[in-house]
Amino acid sequence: MKQKIQEKFKALFGEEGVLYASAGRINLIGEHTDYNGGYVFPGAIDCGIMAAIKVNGTPKVKVFSLDYNESAEFGLNEEDVPDKQWARYIFGVCRETIKRGGKVEGFNAVFAGDVPLGAGLSSSAALESCFAFALNDIFGNGIDKFELAKIGQSTEHNYCGVKCGIMDQFASVFGKEGALIRLNCKTLEYKYFPFHPKGYKLVLIDSCVKHELASSAYNKRRASCENAAAAIRKNHPEVEFLSDAKRVWLDEVREQIPEEDFLRAEYVIGEVQRVLDVCDALERDDYETVGEMMYQTHFGLSRLYEVSCEELDFLNKLARKMDVTGSRVMGGGFGGCTINLVKEELYDGFIAAAKEQFAAKFGHAPKIYDVVISDGARKL
Ligand code: ADP
Ligand code: MG
Repeated sequence: MKQKIQEKFKALFGEEGVLYASAGRINLIGEHTDYNGGYVFPGAIDCGIMAAIKVNGTPKVKVFSLDYNESAEFGLNEEDVPDKQWARYIFGVCRETIKRGGKVEGFNAVFAGDVPLGAGLSSSAALESCFAFALNDIFGNGIDKFELAKIGQSTEHNYCGVKCGIMDQFASVFGKEGALIRLNCKTLEYKYFPFHPKGYKLVLIDSCVKHELASSAYNKRRASCENAAAAIRKNHPEVEFLSDAKRVWLDEVREQIPEEDFLRAEYVIGEVQRVLDVCDALERDDYETVGEMMYQTHFGLSRLYEVSCEELDFLNKLARKMDVTGSRVMGGGFGGCTINLVKEELYDGFIAAAKEQFAAKFGHAPKIYDVVISDGARKL
């Protein structure tokens, strides 16, 4: 990829650019916890975005996307927003850097990536963090890493119409080889934990389905969580978010809230504890416990939070049947991928069975993505 990018850069601009890279991400555990002030536990992966960049001494940005085989050119003022969606991510990063007092002047860039688009691995965050990191380095702005992640997040909010949380950009900027990062979504404190699953593989199975209820269902889940938290707060004023509540405090209000809200809250409070349990297990190198927690999360997402679907439950059940160590739906739900922790010796059989049995039942093959926890945004 490096070579292809530099060759194109040379062909277009007559020299070589400086290379930067960033990564997509997975979240091992901690789902639907972010808006409840709980923990998420992501890591950067070995696929991402790579870009060659050089200041061009003009007021314009000229950028070429190798994957789309398209170029875009835009100025750096608010009204210069480009038409092409992929270019908006880069424009947004420029604008958000400038809004924070950073310097950005015209530059040339060629970039490419290998994060599957829209599969739940956050190719958009990889793109944002690659350029946010690169511009900060090239123009010597000295913006701290957390703010670089926020530049990506604000780009999604203000230029791409996606009201996302901070996890994706955070993981893409802060990711480190062999480490997952526990992020407290309330305080934004974070801590690295070792992730060296020797003898195991981490593999995503993409159901390639996206069920349409996702956004209205998401809002309903949020409302249920807020309702449960409000009921608990009457007895325990220290509960700001649902994740602050103890399980027994939820039991106290069981009769006061709809059963549905109770089940949603039961999942969230359990999930916050599972993240902590997984972190403890990782410090002991205990991947079997990690896997068991992943199954518990899947159960919760499927039966209590009700954001799974037939395809994902099928993949999860198959994983259990084939002695896969851990498996769960990853992301918001209603489609997308399962994330699986599989012993190396079981890997081939599991993947072959998943492909065959899924296709036989649902009429299309799932996609398989092997991932390794790797470095986030960096200069090459
Ligand atoms: P994801 O879940 O992968 O982040 P999004 O829809 O949020 O999915 O972001 C995908 C968009 O990001 C693409 O439509 C494209 O505009 C941009 N993008 C991601 N990767 C690339 C790439 N390699 N080249 C060009 N644009 C990319
Ligand atoms: Mg995205």
